[in-house]
Amino acid sequence: MMTIYLKRGKDESLRRFHPWIFSGAIHHIDGQEEEGALARVLTADGEYIATGHWQIGSIAVRVLTFADEPIDEHFWQERLCVALDARRAMGVAGREDNTTYRLVHGEGDNLPGLVIDIYGRTAVMQAHSVGMHCDRKAIAAALKQVMNEEIDNIYYKSETTLPFKADLGQENEFLLGGSPDDVAIENGLRFHIDWLHGQKTGFFVDQRDNRSLLEHYAHGRDVLNMFCYTGGFSVYAMRGGAQTVHSVDSSAKAIDLVNANVELNFPGDSRHKAFAEDAFRFLQQMEDGAYDLIILDPPAFAKHKEALRNALKGYTRLNVRAFEKIRSGGILFTFSCSQAVSKDQFRTAVFTAAAQSGRKVRILHQLHQPADHPINIYHPEGEYLKGLVLYVE
Ligand code: SAH
Repeated sequence: MMTIYLKRGKDESLRRFHPWIFSGAIHHIDGQEEEGALARVLTADGEYIATGHWQIGSIAVRVLTFADEPIDEHFWQERLCVALDARRAMGVAGREDNTTYRLVHGEGDNLPGLVIDIYGRTAVMQAHSVGMHCDRKAIAAALKQVMNEEIDNIYYKSETTLPFKADLGQENEFLLGGSPDDVAIENGLRFHIDWLHGQKTGFFVDQRDNRSLLEHYAHGRDVLNMFCYTGGFSVYAMRGGAQTVHSVDSSAKAIDLVNANVELNFPGDSRHKAFAEDAFRFLQQMEDGAYDLIILDPPAFAKHKEALRNALKGYTRLNVRAFEKIRSGGILFTFSCSQAVSKDQFRTAVFTAAAQSGRKVRILHQLHQPADHPINIYHPEGEYLKGLVLYVE
């Protein structure tokens, strides 16, 4: 196994259990440097401090353990068992009316670089680091052990999430099973999950709780679901008794998905219509007061810090249109999933939009990612989803 020696003083963040080692902290490496391989990390004094996956790049090591233990079958099983126990405690796993949840959320579950989402009897596994890619088969085997009777299929979907430069030539594939049954249940609602071609692992599991909250506001309202993707918010709004629901996404594929999901839950229901259109254009062209419940859940405007200023302007530009057009007494659900944008920065962007529109606006709820996307207390960078529910007079 490779051994990494840190520069003097560069072990401080590790003593506080931060799971990343930046390349600048490394003094030298002993042994064959193999991307994705395990490395033992020692301080400048040769004291053991961590074991993790080594990778070429700014984050050089993603720490798997701070205990001097082997990374073997037992290790993977134990980590996955804890993750599953936590999901049961949260009340998202082990339910018949909810078979959709995130089992592993990277650093939040002490497994940096790994995401596993459960959709019915299929687990979709995604590696964001070369190390997790290299260990995918061991992880899949442990997952089968731990989930035992609960899953038949493991789909590995990392084509777009692995570092391009590592040149792994990875294709998406089933590591177990291969069933085409793609329907999963979220809070009693059914969804087709397109794990083969969809964005991320096929569904945005992270909006579950926020969709539930929306359901309670939907009764009798005219709902506009912007950036609808698979139509999660739309289907909940319909169950909540919305008068009409309009879904908008620029992707024609997303529009097919939302239509399929509405049909799956509310066959032949004429309250719903979907539009393949650019959100900014749609908002500009729509009539004043056409909607009294609007959801804005755009893709991350800032994927990194440098894009921050423009991203904040983007959030303001988007929200100002909604404030200008929403019916009096309307409710706005507005989100940012950019990790680079803090809660306060997002709130300021929305505040700026409200002020520009001149509307009276109250904050009713402050939203965030759900429990199955936990934040490792030693890795605050794991906080990414934030939202506001606003009452617009
Ligand atoms: N609200 C969704 C997730 C949204 S993901 C859910 O609950 O599942 C973001 C979506 O925005 C994607 O489907 C993407 O196709 C769409 N999108 C990106 N840019 C857009 C634009 N300019 N106008 C409309 N839709 C856009």
